[in-house]
Amino acid sequence: MSASTAASDETRHTLLLSVDFEDWHQLVRRRVGVSGWEVAGPALRRQTAVLLELLDRLAARATFFILGMSARAHPDLLGEIAARGHEIGCHGDRHQPVHRQTPSEFAADLRAARETIERLTGHSPAGYRAPAFSITGESQWAFQVLADEGFAYDASQHDTPRIRDTVRADEPAPHPMHLSGDSILWEFPVAVWRTARARIPVGGASYWAVLPRRLVLRGLRQAGPLAGLYLHPHELDPEPLRALLPEGASTAQRAHAAARAAQRNMARRAATDTLRAIAGSFELIPYGEAHARLSGAATSP
Ligand SMILES: [Zn+2]
Repeated sequence: MSASTAASDETRHTLLLSVDFEDWHQLVRRRVGVSGWEVAGPALRRQTAVLLELLDRLAARATFFILGMSARAHPDLLGEIAARGHEIGCHGDRHQPVHRQTPSEFAADLRAARETIERLTGHSPAGYRAPAFSITGESQWAFQVLADEGFAYDASQHDTPRIRDTVRADEPAPHPMHLSGDSILWEFPVAVWRTARARIPVGGASYWAVLPRRLVLRGLRQAGPLAGLYLHPHELDPEPLRALLPEGASTAQRAHAAARAAQRNMARRAATDTLRAIAGSFELIPYGEAHARLSGAATSP
């Protein structure tokens, strides 16, 4: 094996780990329409403790893309995440799809989240992940807004057939996007295994639940250098999700929430074991670290 091949192998075996840090109970309660949905859910504290312990044991560090409204409901959790050596990024404030917002609404949502994150951690997030990867072909103006709002990188492009009108990265590897006014926003796409016949997403736990583990590992090896993985706090929790709606919720609301819990419980069943297997085969680092390596290399003489 030549020295240059060895170097590229080393790069290929590093993946970017992220957590979309949000309170599932806030989201499901809002979705089914119960009042008081903003109140802190009963499980995020436990889920966060389990997740941080697991990442420590696996010697993995991640970017936590923080949802503003969940951070405000659990103000002490962000300090703990940062103290364990993880990067704090931004997942927006209200978890509204980007393509349903105007550019000025999107900018306001970013500012609200940033203000919460800065107040609670003293640090300004450099990276952004859209809720449900919702920067679509029609809402690509969002990249310019992110750069104008001071973000250095985006991690929202996910080339999967499950997302309608998704933005397909020109190249699957991390790359700078040159925007107007000489601004640059780096893009870090989610891991997708491209074969001659199909695009197979391999970066998230809902895909790990339906693919044999050896194919997930093989797909990640093929997905390109510094491909992105994403998790949610509830996916590593040994306790199943339970909807636990407040008193006064209707039978229909309870049925709706229970169905969503069942769906998430199915989707997360392989998450912990697959993450262990991935951590055994790949170095897992936060996005900001990869951004510092790449953008430093791109600007050095
Ligand atoms: Zn989310």
